[in-house]
Amino acid sequence: MKILVIGGAGYIGSHVVREFLDHGYTVTVLDNLSSGTRRNLFGEAAFVHGDIMHPVRLREVMSEGFDGCVHLAALKAAGESMVSPEQYAEMNIAGTINILNAALSAEMPNMIFSSSAAIFGSPQYLPIDEDHPKNPENFYGFTKLEIEKLMEWYDRLKGLKYASIRYFNAAGYDVQGRINGLEMNPENLLPIVMETASGLRKGMSIFGDDYPTRDGTCIRDYVHVNDLAAAHVSAFEHINEMKQSISVNLGSETGVTVSEMIQRAREMTGMPIPAAAAERRPGDPAELVASSAKAKELLGWEPRHSDLDTLIDSTWQVYCKNFSLT
Ligand code: UDP
Repeated sequence: MKILVIGGAGYIGSHVVREFLDHGYTVTVLDNLSSGTRRNLFGEAAFVHGDIMHPVRLREVMSEGFDGCVHLAALKAAGESMVSPEQYAEMNIAGTINILNAALSAEMPNMIFSSSAAIFGSPQYLPIDEDHPKNPENFYGFTKLEIEKLMEWYDRLKGLKYASIRYFNAAGYDVQGRINGLEMNPENLLPIVMETASGLRKGMSIFGDDYPTRDGTCIRDYVHVNDLAAAHVSAFEHINEMKQSISVNLGSETGVTVSEMIQRAREMTGMPIPAAAAERRPGDPAELVASSAKAKELLGWEPRHSDLDTLIDSTWQVYCKNFSLT
């Protein structure tokens, strides 16, 4: 089976590529290397340096004949999307339309789309299941929801099958240590904790310590990137066999506070990690926790590496390798 992974040189994409390779698939990566890195490429996978904003090139690549396409090439900073919606509209919506249209013209049958918990907005109840109302509160979440709706129509009108996988908070690095490319200028909590532990930052901010949670800091559902990657392979197998599109939430179903993450990282790294309470970050809900019951039922998916210690340790290992720390 042949799979095209668009955005396969990025943080999540490289883990997805590794997982498909481990399952014996023939993989081609298409990436413009804007945030991905050549360090994340594997010799066993073909690489095309290409951009989703070039429909002709996309159609050429797609016409090589793939059984499925995983699409992870997108801008993902929620805060930035509120300031530069044009960029997000172009990359995330127009870029995905280019991919979907190329897929149709090449008769590529299966699409795996990286969606996000951001499509739901502030939770009306917890844990968040697939039926939860979808009211994105940032433009990034809006772009993901628009693509979900578009894929529904393309399925109905053209028979393109899709799996939409709504990530909660992706974290961690390959537990076998095969992926070591770090994201530049990360905005997510765990990489920032690690940059502080590594001494790249003098200190970090805790965005709000007066939320109605057990220690006043926000609760998130962190899911290990190896677990996410495994769900992509299962989702492809599922839609390919069942010929039915699916949308699933993917999280560990466990809530961790910002302070708990920092404190456990201090204990595990032995580094001080100075952290000071700061203003709340606009648009941050107090608590986000997934229900992954549907992923478990449909895909037989179980999180295997999403415990806090594995998330922290697998990330710390990569920082130690990159910065020669002990
Ligand atoms: N956070 C923080 N300091 C940081 C980065 C993040 O306190 O330097 C908090 C953020 O406010 C949120 C949680 O950590 O409550 C997770 O944020 P992240 O950006 O990783 O993911 P999000 O939940 O926004 O998708």
